Amino acid sequence: MKVFKFGGASVKNADAVRNVGRIVTQFKDDNLLVVISAMGKNTNKLEELVKAFWENDSKKKAGIIEELKAFHFDIANDLIADKKHHIFSDLEDLLMELECLVDKKYNNVSYDEMYDGIVCYGELLSTKILSDYLHSIEIRNKWVDARNFIQTDSNFREARVKWEETEETVKRILKPYIDRSMIITQGFVGRDEENNTTTLGREGSDYTAAVFAYCLDAKDVTIWKDVAGVMNADPNKFPEAVKLDAINYTQAIELAYYGASVIHPKTIQPLKSKNISLFVNSFLNTSAVGTVVNNEARALVKECYIVKENQTLVSISTRNYSFIAEDNLSNIFVEFARHKVRINVMQNSAISFSACCDTKESRIEDLCRDISGDFKVNITPDCILLTIYNAQNEQTVPAGYRDYKILLKQVLGDAMQLVLQK
Ligand code: ASP
Ligand code: MG
Repeated sequence: MKVFKFGGASVKNADAVRNVGRIVTQFKDDNLLVVISAMGKNTNKLEELVKAFWENDSKKKAGIIEELKAFHFDIANDLIADKKHHIFSDLEDLLMELECLVDKKYNNVSYDEMYDGIVCYGELLSTKILSDYLHSIEIRNKWVDARNFIQTDSNFREARVKWEETEETVKRILKPYIDRSMIITQGFVGRDEENNTTTLGREGSDYTAAVFAYCLDAKDVTIWKDVAGVMNADPNKFPEAVKLDAINYTQAIELAYYGASVIHPKTIQPLKSKNISLFVNSFLNTSAVGTVVNNEARALVKECYIVKENQTLVSISTRNYSFIAEDNLSNIFVEFARHKVRINVMQNSAISFSACCDTKESRIEDLCRDISGDFKVNITPDCILLTIYNAQNEQTVPAGYRDYKILLKQVLGDAMQLVLQK
């Protein structure tokens, strides 16, 4: 059996959904499980709804619900001619549920828990539309609520999958259905022990596809994207970027880790452990060969350039000129972890420590405030982290980045990393 994953761009409007229909039709005899994200940018829209709910902004809430209604009904209307079809009342039910959810006041519910309860509607709506559209073109399929299978802890917005429970339920309950019909389900969502909806982190649908593939011992997973495959650089920033035909799991994990955004970083591990191949193909050109990620260790022949924007360099030095050694470092790391500030590269010298982090203003401010008693802290915002992976020759800064100031440079293994400032 195969697992397919279609992201938001592949279902952003009615024509895109028709295209997904054409793709899955070609594979309808393959025992398919299809994972779908929210349509277009609707997860961002739902994030706005969470904020409006939290700020108790009724006008904003109503406006966003109207937009979500219009968006999904437009697509469903375009796809399904029969206006008495149950899809229309199904969508209405879901949207009314959402409206009621954000209408109430709750005690003891955290922002993150509320977030997961609200944003999951993007995936619920998209999968309903896709499933019924496929029925309308006579593709037999079954809509499945992924939350019944993807069991997680209660770490809302970044929930961790409970593998044993998930695998057991998927094998026992879901697997028999796969032999009978295609399964359409949601990416990104799960459920904790208390029956609360959880999510696996933004862009987590790739990971969902990998979790199902692992539990079902799938032959392969295909992520359908609007790019040709995994490229050696972002073509918007590096016009000479080329597609990589094949990479191994380790290379894929490293590229994703350094910030290549084609595959969600957590996706590879479950596939690697069962040697399940991953294809990254273009939904715009289905006959073109994309990238395959598998176990065959091939040497990567191309240099890869990965640019992470929105970085902040946090430079910390001791006030009493004591060394930045184990004790100081351990205090510093505790604070980074406590404030959930993610470090992408770090370096230290005798009395200073520098870390390049994703810019999350309030978290970094809180962190700095909490450590400023013992340490002097200096913040450089608006940095870029450039990683050159698998450099072939003398590692040089690529054209377009040579005018930047290098604030930090590090070479480790196959990767050179530079923190740059304009
Ligand atoms: N819809 C979610 C997001 O936009 C999950 C995903 O697309 O992978 O983050
Ligand atoms: Mg997405």
